[in-house]
Amino acid sequence: MPAGRHFLQIPGPTNVPDRVLRAIDRPTIDHRGPEFQELGQDVLAGIRRIFKTRHPVVIYPASGTGAWEAALVNVLSPGDKVLMYESGHFAALWRKLAGRLGLEVELIPGDWRRGAEAPAIRERLAADKAHAIKAVCVVHNETSTGATTRVPLVRKAIDETRHPALLLVDTISSLASIDYRHDEWGVDVTVGGSQKGLMLPPGLSFNALSPKALAAQAGAKLPRSYWDWSEMLAPNEKGFFPYTPATNLLYGLREAIRMLEEEGLANVFARHDRHAEATRRAAAAWGLEVLCAVPEEYSSSLTALIMPAGHDADRLRSAILERFDMSLGMGLGRLAGKVFRIGHLGDFNDLTLMGTLSGVEMGLELAGVPHRKGGAQAAMDYLASCGRPAAGTAKAA
Ligand SMILES: *Cc1c(COP(=O)(O)O)cnc(C)c1O
Repeated sequence: MPAGRHFLQIPGPTNVPDRVLRAIDRPTIDHRGPEFQELGQDVLAGIRRIFKTRHPVVIYPASGTGAWEAALVNVLSPGDKVLMYESGHFAALWRKLAGRLGLEVELIPGDWRRGAEAPAIRERLAADKAHAIKAVCVVHNETSTGATTRVPLVRKAIDETRHPALLLVDTISSLASIDYRHDEWGVDVTVGGSQKGLMLPPGLSFNALSPKALAAQAGAKLPRSYWDWSEMLAPNEKGFFPYTPATNLLYGLREAIRMLEEEGLANVFARHDRHAEATRRAAAAWGLEVLCAVPEEYSSSLTALIMPAGHDADRLRSAILERFDMSLGMGLGRLAGKVFRIGHLGDFNDLTLMGTLSGVEMGLELAGVPHRKGGAQAAMDYLASCGRPAAGTAKAA
């Protein structure tokens, strides 16, 4: 084992803070008893504040993929048409899952360098006079590309066409790191996961609901049992779960929500914005291109950088892992070998970023990747110009 902490700078799972690790390190309790009830009520209320919703949030003991499936099976019927936008690898995986469930997917192809385009969605919905499309599914933060979708614009596109389709949004890699507002943005089902912005180990995932989604559930005919919201919502009202919950992860979730609220969600988002900007400045100094082609859609939780032609991203990543004990995200799907991704989300501060960027800069040198020096310096100059360090270091009231 190398000395010092491993740098886990993939865009999820992210580094789990010591406070969360300590919170998890407790005896598992009777999940039908009064002590659990308090925990259950606490996390079920707290997670709503993170999604910014007054409506129920369902917590599953599952990875994000489970919550993807849950979102679809609770509101749709076999053969229903869903409109999806191919923003990248994760959008493509959600589409595949929808197809396997027996849904008919209308896919808007994308170039994997931007978020879902509202005008294209508006056009498809306007053409769907018969309202055959029952749901629009987009990924808020496409973890494979580092491009975000401007969800309010998608909402506006649906409203402008007066189309009744539900809006389903994946926030697995943006929840608690990039501004997101389930109620205000009129989202019907938001899908979240524990192991990215929420700073927890993998193993929990979420569906935030809207009244319209709950109403759609009554007529939805895809088979559902384990994922059934109504099975969950009844016991959740008293803080309990219909089956054994991931009790220890819920201890962690309670602590993570406390940490996020001590810092203040607005400060958390500003911190992620700052680290993303510093990373892009480093990339510009190195002469490496950011994959996301639309500046308004730059992700604040990760940055994907394009390798110079003829250089393999995986060679660079393995050199950095071997020499500096840092994991960076690989290129996924059609981006394999062509990009590497720097995760800068979760339990992360200015110096974590500087360690990360120094490792990348040294790695570029080591692996013989053409670049200019001075990326880490450019990031430092920017961070120093930002004044006060992360608000997380001072306990906000
Ligand atoms: C990580 C991720 C997923 C998959 O979640 P799992 O927990 O691996 O099942 C889905 N969508 C996005 C945007 C992700 O970042």
